[in-house]
Amino acid sequence: MKEIILSCNALTPLCLGDGRKKDPRKTLEFIPGASWRGALAWAHTMARPGKDQEFKDFFLSGKVTYSNLLPASFPGSKSELRDKADPVSPLPFTAKSCKRLRGFMYQSTHDERKHGVQDTLIPWLLFSLSDEKDAQVLAKASKCPEKNCGATLEGLHGYYRRGKSGATGMSDLRTSIVTRTGICRATDTVEESILFSKEVIQKGSVFWGFVLLPDDLEDKWRDFLEDDLIRGIIRIGSGRSSGLGKLGISVESSNSISADTVGKEIRHRVTAFNSLLATEANSQNIKREHVLYIPLTLKSDLILRDDCMRYVTTLDDKWFKNTTGALGKLVYQCSRTRRVGGWDGILKMPREDVWGIAAGSVFVFALEQEPDYGRLARIQLEGIGERTSEGFGNVMWADEWHMEVNRL
Ligand SMILES: [Zn+2]
Repeated sequence: MKEIILSCNALTPLCLGDGRKKDPRKTLEFIPGASWRGALAWAHTMARPGKDQEFKDFFLSGKVTYSNLLPASFPGSKSELRDKADPVSPLPFTAKSCKRLRGFMYQSTHDERKHGVQDTLIPWLLFSLSDEKDAQVLAKASKCPEKNCGATLEGLHGYYRRGKSGATGMSDLRTSIVTRTGICRATDTVEESILFSKEVIQKGSVFWGFVLLPDDLEDKWRDFLEDDLIRGIIRIGSGRSSGLGKLGISVESSNSISADTVGKEIRHRVTAFNSLLATEANSQNIKREHVLYIPLTLKSDLILRDDCMRYVTTLDDKWFKNTTGALGKLVYQCSRTRRVGGWDGILKMPREDVWGIAAGSVFVFALEQEPDYGRLARIQLEGIGERTSEGFGNVMWADEWHMEVNRL
Protein backbone atom coordinates (compact mmCIF):
# COMPACT_ATOMS: atom_id res chain seq x y z
CA MET A 1 0.00 0.00 0.00
CA LYS A 2 1.17 3.53 -0.77
CA GLU A 3 0.54 6.79 1.04
CA ILE A 4 0.89 9.84 -1.18
CA ILE A 5 1.35 13.03 0.84
CA LEU A 6 -0.21 16.11 -0.72
CA SER A 7 0.12 19.81 -0.24
CA CYS A 8 -2.63 22.05 -1.56
CA ASN A 9 -2.83 25.73 -2.22
CA ALA A 10 -5.93 27.91 -2.43
CA LEU A 11 -5.40 29.70 -5.75
CA THR A 12 -8.57 31.75 -5.16
CA PRO A 13 -10.70 32.17 -2.00
CA LEU A 14 -12.57 28.97 -1.05
CA CYS A 15 -16.12 28.65 0.30
CA LEU A 16 -16.96 25.22 1.68
CA GLY A 17 -20.54 24.73 2.83
CA ASP A 18 -21.61 22.12 5.32
CA GLY A 19 -24.96 20.81 4.05
CA ARG A 20 -28.08 22.25 5.62
CA LYS A 21 -26.29 24.04 8.39
CA LYS A 22 -27.86 26.73 10.57
CA ASP A 23 -25.64 29.41 9.13
CA PRO A 24 -25.00 28.64 5.46
CA ARG A 25 -22.69 31.65 5.12
CA LYS A 26 -20.00 30.05 7.29
CA THR A 27 -17.28 28.05 5.58
CA LEU A 28 -15.90 24.74 6.83
CA GLU A 29 -12.34 24.98 8.11
CA PHE A 30 -11.08 21.99 6.14
CA ILE A 31 -11.68 20.50 2.71
CA PRO A 32 -13.69 17.27 3.09
CA GLY A 33 -12.32 14.22 1.28
CA ALA A 34 -15.66 13.86 -0.53
CA SER A 35 -15.38 17.39 -1.88
CA TRP A 36 -12.02 17.14 -3.64
CA ARG A 37 -12.61 13.50 -4.62
CA GLY A 38 -15.79 14.66 -6.41
CA ALA A 39 -13.92 17.52 -8.10
CA LEU A 40 -11.20 15.14 -9.29
CA ALA A 41 -13.83 12.69 -10.55
CA TRP A 42 -15.44 15.48 -12.59
CA ALA A 43 -12.01 16.45 -13.94
CA HIS A 44 -11.46 12.80 -14.92
CA THR A 45 -14.64 12.72 -17.01
CA MET A 46 -13.42 15.83 -18.84
CA ALA A 47 -9.77 14.89 -19.29
CA ARG A 48 -10.09 11.16 -19.85
CA PRO A 49 -13.53 10.37 -21.26
CA GLY A 50 -14.12 6.67 -21.86
CA LYS A 51 -11.52 5.46 -19.39
CA ASP A 52 -14.21 3.79 -17.31
CA GLN A 53 -12.06 1.20 -15.57
CA GLU A 54 -9.66 3.86 -14.35
CA PHE A 55 -12.61 5.98 -13.15
CA LYS A 56 -13.99 3.01 -11.21
CA ASP A 57 -10.59 2.26 -9.68
CA PHE A 58 -9.99 5.85 -8.58
CA PHE A 59 -13.42 6.91 -7.40
CA LEU A 60 -15.95 4.11 -7.05
CA SER A 61 -14.14 0.95 -5.97
CA GLY A 62 -13.14 2.22 -2.52
CA LYS A 63 -9.52 1.23 -3.30
CA VAL A 64 -8.35 4.86 -3.03
CA THR A 65 -8.85 6.74 0.24
CA TYR A 66 -9.04 10.53 -0.01
CA SER A 67 -8.29 12.16 3.34
CA ASN A 68 -9.70 15.49 4.48
CA LEU A 69 -7.35 18.34 3.55
CA LEU A 70 -6.45 20.15 6.78
CA PRO A 71 -5.26 23.75 7.21
CA ALA A 72 -1.46 23.86 7.12
CA SER A 73 -0.47 27.53 6.95
CA PHE A 74 2.16 28.40 9.54
CA PRO A 75 2.95 32.06 8.88
CA GLY A 76 5.57 33.59 11.10
CA SER A 77 6.52 30.18 12.50
CA LYS A 78 10.04 28.86 12.38
CA SER A 79 10.93 26.92 9.27
CA GLU A 80 10.59 23.55 11.00
CA LEU A 81 6.80 23.77 10.87
CA ARG A 82 6.81 24.66 7.21
CA ASP A 83 7.93 21.24 5.93
CA LYS A 84 4.95 20.48 3.73
CA ALA A 85 5.31 16.70 4.08
CA ASP A 86 4.91 16.60 7.88
CA PRO A 87 1.45 15.51 8.98
CA VAL A 88 -1.23 17.84 10.32
CA SER A 89 -3.91 16.57 12.73
CA PRO A 90 -6.92 18.02 14.52
CA LEU A 91 -6.16 18.75 18.16
CA PRO A 92 -7.85 16.07 20.30
CA PHE A 93 -10.58 17.28 22.69
CA THR A 94 -8.23 16.45 25.55
CA ALA A 95 -5.80 19.22 24.45
CA LYS A 96 -6.03 22.23 26.79
CA SER A 97 -4.48 25.65 26.87
CA CYS A 98 -4.47 28.72 29.12
CA LYS A 99 -7.68 30.74 28.84
CA ARG A 100 -5.73 34.00 28.90
CA LEU A 101 -2.74 33.42 26.63
CA ARG A 102 -3.67 30.39 24.57
CA GLY A 103 -1.45 28.64 22.07
CA PHE A 104 1.78 26.65 21.71
CA MET A 105 4.82 28.10 23.46
CA TYR A 106 6.83 27.45 20.31
CA GLN A 107 4.69 30.06 18.54
CA SER A 108 5.19 32.74 21.22
CA THR A 109 6.48 36.00 19.84
CA HIS A 110 7.92 39.06 21.48
CA ASP A 111 4.56 40.83 21.29
CA GLU A 112 2.29 37.87 21.83
CA ARG A 113 3.22 35.38 24.53
CA LYS A 114 1.55 31.99 24.74
CA HIS A 115 1.31 29.81 27.83
CA GLY A 116 1.50 26.47 26.05
CA VAL A 117 -0.73 23.52 25.26
CA GLN A 118 -0.84 20.21 27.12
CA ASP A 119 -2.80 17.01 26.93
CA THR A 120 -5.14 16.09 29.78
CA LEU A 121 -6.00 12.52 28.85
CA ILE A 122 -3.75 10.92 31.49
CA PRO A 123 -5.02 13.06 34.43
CA TRP A 124 -8.66 12.50 33.41
CA LEU A 125 -8.06 8.78 32.88
CA LEU A 126 -6.47 8.55 36.35
CA PHE A 127 -9.46 10.40 37.80
CA SER A 128 -11.73 7.90 36.09
CA LEU A 129 -9.63 4.95 37.37
CA SER A 130 -9.92 6.31 40.93
CA ASP A 131 -13.73 5.91 40.58
CA GLU A 132 -13.92 9.67 40.20
CA LYS A 133 -12.97 10.14 43.83
CA ASP A 134 -9.46 11.58 43.65
CA ALA A 135 -9.98 15.12 42.32
CA GLN A 136 -6.36 15.93 43.25
CA VAL A 137 -5.12 14.29 40.03
CA LEU A 138 -6.99 16.90 38.03
CA ALA A 139 -5.01 19.78 39.54
CA LYS A 140 -2.52 19.64 36.64
CA ALA A 141 -5.33 19.54 34.12
CA SER A 142 -7.33 22.51 35.32
CA LYS A 143 -5.07 25.50 35.96
CA CYS A 144 -2.37 27.11 33.81
CA PRO A 145 1.00 26.18 35.38
CA GLU A 146 2.73 29.37 34.18
CA LYS A 147 4.18 31.34 37.04
CA ASN A 148 1.82 34.11 38.26
CA CYS A 149 -0.95 33.00 35.88
CA GLY A 150 -3.13 30.17 37.20
CA ALA A 151 -5.93 30.91 34.70
CA THR A 152 -8.33 28.10 33.84
CA LEU A 153 -7.25 25.64 31.14
CA GLU A 154 -9.68 25.45 28.26
CA GLY A 155 -10.12 23.22 25.25
CA LEU A 156 -8.24 24.38 22.18
CA HIS A 157 -9.77 23.94 18.77
CA GLY A 158 -7.58 23.76 15.70
CA TYR A 159 -5.02 21.76 13.76
CA TYR A 160 -1.42 21.09 14.74
CA ARG A 161 1.83 19.93 13.18
CA ARG A 162 4.86 18.52 14.90
CA GLY A 163 8.17 19.19 13.19
CA LYS A 164 10.93 16.60 12.90
CA SER A 165 12.81 17.85 15.96
CA GLY A 166 9.69 18.16 18.11
CA ALA A 167 8.60 21.77 17.61
CA THR A 168 4.80 21.87 17.62
CA GLY A 169 2.48 24.61 16.45
CA MET A 170 -1.06 25.33 15.40
CA SER A 171 -1.94 26.20 11.85
CA ASP A 172 -3.51 29.49 11.02
CA LEU A 173 -6.68 29.75 8.95
CA ARG A 174 -7.49 33.18 7.60
CA THR A 175 -11.03 33.83 6.54
CA SER A 176 -12.78 36.91 5.23
CA ILE A 177 -16.23 37.93 4.08
CA VAL A 178 -16.98 38.48 0.40
CA THR A 179 -20.11 40.30 -0.72
CA ARG A 180 -21.77 39.58 -4.04
CA THR A 181 -24.79 40.92 -5.90
CA GLY A 182 -27.62 38.64 -6.97
CA ILE A 183 -28.15 38.12 -10.70
CA CYS A 184 -31.59 38.54 -12.24
CA ARG A 185 -32.40 35.39 -14.25
CA ALA A 186 -34.53 37.26 -16.76
CA THR A 187 -32.02 39.92 -17.72
CA ASP A 188 -28.69 38.43 -16.60
CA THR A 189 -27.92 41.72 -14.89
CA VAL A 190 -27.82 42.76 -11.25
CA GLU A 191 -31.01 41.92 -9.34
CA GLU A 192 -32.24 44.89 -7.34
CA SER A 193 -32.22 44.54 -3.54
CA ILE A 194 -30.24 41.28 -3.60
CA LEU A 195 -26.89 41.49 -1.91
CA PHE A 196 -25.37 38.54 -0.06
CA SER A 197 -22.21 37.86 1.87
CA LYS A 198 -20.37 34.67 2.63
CA GLU A 199 -17.33 33.67 4.57
CA VAL A 200 -14.39 32.41 2.53
CA ILE A 201 -10.97 30.92 3.27
CA GLN A 202 -8.43 33.39 1.95
CA LYS A 203 -6.42 32.90 -1.21
CA GLY A 204 -2.94 31.51 -0.51
CA SER A 205 -4.05 29.22 2.34
CA VAL A 206 -2.16 25.93 2.44
CA PHE A 207 -3.65 22.49 3.22
CA TRP A 208 -2.17 19.09 4.00
CA GLY A 209 -3.65 15.69 3.20
CA PHE A 210 -2.98 12.27 1.75
CA VAL A 211 -4.34 9.49 -0.43
CA LEU A 212 -3.94 5.80 0.37
CA LEU A 213 -3.97 3.39 -2.55
CA PRO A 214 -2.71 -0.01 -3.68
CA ASP A 215 0.84 -0.10 -5.10
CA ASP A 216 -0.33 -0.80 -8.66
CA LEU A 217 -2.49 2.36 -8.78
CA GLU A 218 0.18 4.79 -7.60
CA ASP A 219 1.74 5.64 -10.96
CA LYS A 220 -1.63 5.79 -12.72
CA TRP A 221 -3.09 8.13 -10.07
CA ARG A 222 -0.11 10.47 -10.11
CA ASP A 223 -0.09 10.46 -13.88
CA PHE A 224 -3.79 11.45 -13.85
CA LEU A 225 -3.26 14.26 -11.30
CA GLU A 226 -0.40 15.66 -13.37
CA ASP A 227 -2.25 15.19 -16.69
CA ASP A 228 -1.75 18.17 -19.01
CA LEU A 229 -5.48 18.93 -18.90
CA ILE A 230 -5.59 18.99 -15.10
CA ARG A 231 -2.12 19.91 -13.83
CA GLY A 232 -3.29 19.34 -10.26
CA ILE A 233 -5.88 22.12 -10.41
CA ILE A 234 -9.50 21.52 -9.43
CA ARG A 235 -12.53 23.61 -8.38
CA ILE A 236 -14.22 22.84 -5.09
CA GLY A 237 -16.93 24.22 -2.81
CA SER A 238 -19.53 26.83 -3.67
CA GLY A 239 -19.24 30.01 -5.72
CA ARG A 240 -17.20 28.26 -8.43
CA SER A 241 -19.03 30.17 -11.16
CA SER A 242 -18.12 33.47 -9.50
CA GLY A 243 -14.40 32.80 -9.29
CA LEU A 244 -14.11 30.96 -5.98
CA GLY A 245 -12.85 27.47 -5.20
CA LYS A 246 -9.70 27.01 -7.30
CA LEU A 247 -7.32 24.60 -5.58
CA GLY A 248 -3.85 23.47 -6.67
CA ILE A 249 -2.76 20.01 -5.50
CA SER A 250 0.84 18.84 -5.58
CA VAL A 251 2.50 15.62 -4.46
CA GLU A 252 5.06 16.10 -1.67
CA SER A 253 6.16 12.52 -1.11
CA SER A 254 5.13 8.93 -1.43
CA ASN A 255 5.74 6.24 1.18
CA SER A 256 5.21 2.50 1.28
CA ILE A 257 3.16 1.36 4.23
CA SER A 258 2.67 -2.17 5.48
CA ALA A 259 0.38 -3.44 8.23
CA ASP A 260 3.46 -5.09 9.80
CA THR A 261 5.33 -1.83 10.29
CA VAL A 262 2.22 0.02 11.46
CA GLY A 263 1.49 -2.81 13.93
CA LYS A 264 5.00 -2.50 15.39
CA GLU A 265 4.62 1.27 15.70
CA ILE A 266 1.29 0.86 17.51
CA ARG A 267 2.81 -1.68 19.92
CA HIS A 268 5.68 0.69 20.61
CA ARG A 269 3.32 3.61 21.30
CA VAL A 270 0.99 1.51 23.49
CA THR A 271 3.98 0.39 25.58
CA ALA A 272 5.23 3.96 25.97
CA PHE A 273 1.76 5.25 26.91
CA ASN A 274 1.28 2.52 29.53
CA SER A 275 4.67 3.09 31.04
CA LEU A 276 3.95 6.83 31.42
CA LEU A 277 0.48 6.03 32.80
CA ALA A 278 2.04 3.64 35.34
CA THR A 279 4.52 6.30 36.48
CA GLU A 280 1.79 8.92 36.89
CA ALA A 281 -0.58 6.44 38.60
CA ASN A 282 2.12 5.34 41.07
CA SER A 283 2.99 8.92 41.94
CA GLN A 284 -0.69 9.54 42.76
CA ASN A 285 -1.28 6.16 44.45
CA ILE A 286 -3.96 5.15 41.99
CA LYS A 287 -4.43 1.47 41.26
CA ARG A 288 -4.64 0.26 37.69
CA GLU A 289 -6.93 -2.73 37.55
CA HIS A 290 -6.15 -3.76 33.99
CA VAL A 291 -2.95 -4.87 32.30
CA LEU A 292 -3.10 -2.50 29.35
CA TYR A 293 -4.81 0.76 28.42
CA ILE A 294 -5.17 1.72 24.75
CA PRO A 295 -6.38 5.15 23.64
CA LEU A 296 -8.14 5.56 20.30
CA THR A 297 -8.16 9.06 18.81
CA LEU A 298 -10.36 10.17 15.92
CA LYS A 299 -8.45 12.10 13.26
CA SER A 300 -11.61 12.69 11.24
CA ASP A 301 -15.35 12.40 11.85
CA LEU A 302 -16.58 8.84 12.21
CA ILE A 303 -19.88 7.58 10.81
CA LEU A 304 -20.94 4.27 12.28
CA ARG A 305 -24.21 2.34 12.49
CA ASP A 306 -25.28 -0.48 14.75
CA ASP A 307 -26.97 -3.75 13.72
CA CYS A 308 -30.34 -1.95 13.51
CA MET A 309 -28.83 0.72 11.18
CA ARG A 310 -29.06 3.42 13.88
CA TYR A 311 -26.24 5.95 13.97
CA VAL A 312 -23.81 5.33 16.81
CA THR A 313 -22.59 8.29 18.82
CA THR A 314 -20.13 6.51 21.09
CA LEU A 315 -17.89 3.44 20.97
CA ASP A 316 -18.45 0.71 23.54
CA ASP A 317 -17.14 -2.67 24.73
CA LYS A 318 -19.23 -4.57 22.18
CA TRP A 319 -17.89 -2.49 19.32
CA PHE A 320 -14.31 -3.04 20.56
CA LYS A 321 -14.80 -6.82 20.73
CA ASN A 322 -16.40 -7.01 17.27
CA THR A 323 -13.79 -4.78 15.66
CA THR A 324 -10.52 -5.85 17.27
CA GLY A 325 -11.40 -9.37 18.41
CA ALA A 326 -10.07 -8.55 21.89
CA LEU A 327 -11.97 -8.07 25.13
CA GLY A 328 -11.79 -4.43 26.13
CA LYS A 329 -13.63 -2.23 28.59
CA LEU A 330 -14.30 1.43 27.81
CA VAL A 331 -12.87 3.24 30.83
CA TYR A 332 -12.78 6.84 29.60
CA GLN A 333 -14.12 8.91 26.75
CA CYS A 334 -13.99 12.54 25.74
CA SER A 335 -16.18 12.76 22.66
CA ARG A 336 -18.70 14.89 20.82
CA THR A 337 -21.25 14.20 18.15
CA ARG A 338 -21.45 16.03 14.87
CA ARG A 339 -24.07 16.34 12.17
CA VAL A 340 -22.46 15.60 8.82
CA GLY A 341 -24.08 16.90 5.67
CA GLY A 342 -22.54 17.78 2.37
CA TRP A 343 -22.72 17.39 -1.34
CA ASP A 344 -21.99 14.29 -3.38
CA GLY A 345 -19.67 15.55 -6.10
CA ILE A 346 -20.00 12.35 -8.17
CA LEU A 347 -23.80 12.03 -8.07
CA LYS A 348 -24.22 15.84 -8.02
CA MET A 349 -26.81 15.59 -5.26
CA PRO A 350 -27.03 16.79 -1.65
CA ARG A 351 -26.26 14.09 0.86
CA GLU A 352 -28.63 13.21 3.68
CA ASP A 353 -27.62 14.57 7.07
CA VAL A 354 -26.14 11.87 9.28
CA TRP A 355 -24.87 11.83 12.85
CA GLY A 356 -21.29 10.94 13.55
CA ILE A 357 -18.66 11.10 16.26
CA ALA A 358 -16.55 14.25 15.84
CA ALA A 359 -12.86 14.35 14.90
CA GLY A 360 -10.80 14.94 18.06
CA SER A 361 -12.83 12.48 20.19
CA VAL A 362 -10.78 10.15 22.38
CA PHE A 363 -11.73 6.75 23.84
CA VAL A 364 -9.64 4.60 26.17
CA PHE A 365 -10.14 0.83 26.38
CA ALA A 366 -8.71 -1.33 29.18
CA LEU A 367 -7.51 -4.83 28.29
CA GLU A 368 -6.49 -7.90 30.25
CA GLN A 369 -3.99 -9.03 27.63
CA GLU A 370 -2.07 -7.79 24.60
CA PRO A 371 -4.30 -7.35 21.54
CA ASP A 372 -3.54 -8.55 18.01
CA TYR A 373 -1.47 -5.56 16.87
CA GLY A 374 -1.69 -6.65 13.24
CA ARG A 375 -5.47 -6.31 13.46
CA LEU A 376 -5.20 -2.88 15.12
CA ALA A 377 -2.87 -1.84 12.29
CA ARG A 378 -5.37 -2.91 9.63
CA ILE A 379 -8.12 -0.96 11.42
CA GLN A 380 -5.90 2.13 11.51
CA LEU A 381 -5.01 1.78 7.83
CA GLU A 382 -8.47 0.97 6.53
CA GLY A 383 -10.41 3.31 8.82
CA ILE A 384 -13.57 2.62 10.77
CA GLY A 385 -17.24 2.84 9.83
CA GLU A 386 -18.78 4.22 6.66
CA ARG A 387 -17.39 6.36 3.83
CA THR A 388 -13.77 5.70 4.79
CA SER A 389 -12.66 6.33 1.19
CA GLU A 390 -13.93 9.93 1.61
CA GLY A 391 -11.74 10.49 4.65
CA PHE A 392 -14.22 9.51 7.38
CA GLY A 393 -13.24 7.17 10.21
CA ASN A 394 -9.50 7.94 10.14
CA VAL A 395 -8.23 6.89 13.58
CA MET A 396 -4.99 6.40 15.48
CA TRP A 397 -4.25 3.94 18.26
CA ALA A 398 -2.22 5.37 21.15
CA ASP A 399 -1.52 8.71 19.48
CA GLU A 400 1.80 10.10 20.72
CA TRP A 401 0.00 13.36 21.48
CA HIS A 402 -1.44 11.80 24.65
CA MET A 403 2.07 11.52 26.11
CA GLU A 404 2.24 15.33 26.29
CA VAL A 405 1.44 15.78 29.95
CA ASN A 406 3.81 18.74 30.07
CA ARG A 407 3.30 21.98 28.23
CA LEU A 408 4.38 22.35 24.61
ZN1 LIG B 1 -1.63 31.13 31.62
